[in-house]
This record gives sequence, C-alpha cells and structure tokens, in this order.
Amino acid sequence: MDTRFFADWLDEAARLVRRDRERLTDLDAAIGDADHGANLDRGFTEVAKALADRPPGSPGQVLADAGTALIRRVGGASGPLYGSMFRQMGRTLESPVTLARFEAAFEEGVVALERLGKAAVGDKTMVDALVPASRSLALAVRDGIGALEAFERAADAAAEGARETIPLQARKGRASYLGERSVGHEDPGAASAALIMRALATVARNRAEGQDQAADQDQAESRPPGEGRSPAEGQGRAEG
Ligand code: ADP
Ligand code: MG
Repeated sequence: MDTRFFADWLDEAARLVRRDRERLTDLDAAIGDADHGANLDRGFTEVAKALADRPPGSPGQVLADAGTALIRRVGGASGPLYGSMFRQMGRTLESPVTLARFEAAFEEGVVALERLGKAAVGDKTMVDALVPASRSLALAVRDGIGALEAFERAADAAAEGARETIPLQARKGRASYLGERSVGHEDPGAASAALIMRALATVARNRAEGQDQAADQDQAESRPPGEGRSPAEGQGRAEG
C-alpha cells in the first residue's frame, strides 16, 4: 500500500460521498439540519484538490493532509471529527504500510475521534460504524487475513454498524436534541463512515484486479512467439 493507494482511497471516498450526497442530506434532514451531504461533498472535494495541488510524499502525509483539509473546509461537526481521525491516522501510520500498521493507525484515528466527540458505541454517531470497522481490522490482522478481504469485512462491519443506529436514540450531536424522536432513523455520520470504509475496499479490489491483469500481461508477453493465447482462454481469464 503506497502513497498512491491512499490518495486513491480519498478520491474514491469523494466519489461515493458525491454519489450519495442526497441520501446523506436526507438522513440529516430527518434528525439534524440537512447539511451532512453538502458538508462532506465540500470537504472531500477540497481534500482531492489539496492532494492534487501539493502531492504528499508518504501514505501518512496523504492522510494528515486530508484531515487538515476536512477541518478547514467542513463547517459541521463532522469536519473536525473526521479531520482529527485522518490527521491522527496520518501521524501514526508507518511506511512501508502493512495491514497491521494500517490497522494500528486506523485504531488510533478512531480513538482520537471518540475523544474529541466524547462519543461511544451506542450513542448513534459515526463511532457506531467506525468502531466495528476497527475491530474487524484487528481480527483480520490477528487471523492473518489479506488486506483486500480485511477491508471488505471492515466495510461490511461499518455498514452493519450504521444500520444498527436506526433503533437507537441519539445521545451526541444535533440529533440528541430530538430525544426519542431520533429513534427510527439511520445516523448520517454512521452512513458516511460506512461509505469511507467501502471506498477503501473498492480501491484495494481495483488494485488487486489491476495487478492480476498486469501479471496476465507479463505472462502473455513472456511466452515464446507462436504460443499466443486462444481467444477463449483470454476471455475466461478476463471474467475470472
Ligand atoms: P452538524 O451536526 O454540525 O450539522 P454534520 O451534519 O456534518 O454536522 O454531521 C453530523 C454527524 O456528525 C452525525 O450524524 C454524527 O454521526 C456525527 N457527530 C455529531 N456529533 C458527534 C459527536 N459528539 N461524536 C461523534 N460523532 C458526532
Ligand atoms: Mg448536519
């Protein structure tokens, strides 16, 4: 996982946030002030711009710069919260990045966010998606699971955690002002956290598939002339 991988993660997160901007805003309209989609779209657009303007030199720097951009550009509570998480992750992440190092940095980032928001699991916030993702990554490291599988499990855990906020009553943030009326709605921050984790899995999958294709290409090129692949064989590999 190199510098490019982490820049791709943030680009993919920006794409998913933009795609789901309306849904995030609708969730926030139900239990907040209807700006979560706009807040994050603005924030992640700024992240992409910052990374393009000043290409960071290391994975940790990518995440730290992203955190700074989120803090600067997002007015709502989610800006400083995600910003602190990415900044702490960036400060902690050691290169060359392994799954274990990423997991350690991610966990520190989530702890920083929890500390800033004074929120715990069950308070109906983004923490409800991020903590299960973090636990899932820790289990993957313990069990020696590969990065792609680990990120997919973490994304699933985050999505599940977000769904589980629906029956909860909010105890933190704007939604907590609604008291019992916050019950029955998914927390917008938990929903966006699930998107951010899904983006990580997608980028890992794209990488893995790109590497497969490159390996196929290498193999095809290293074959002696006359031993070209049949069209049928080529198709089978492309689909597999
Ligand atoms: P705002 O609430 O200021 O309008 P956003 O709409 O962008 O900001 O973000 C709202 C989300 O932020 C909530 O859905 C929740 O997940 C998260 N959030 C709010 N307050 C806290 C907190 N104290 N700790 C953790 N997350 C919080
Ligand atoms: Mg809001």
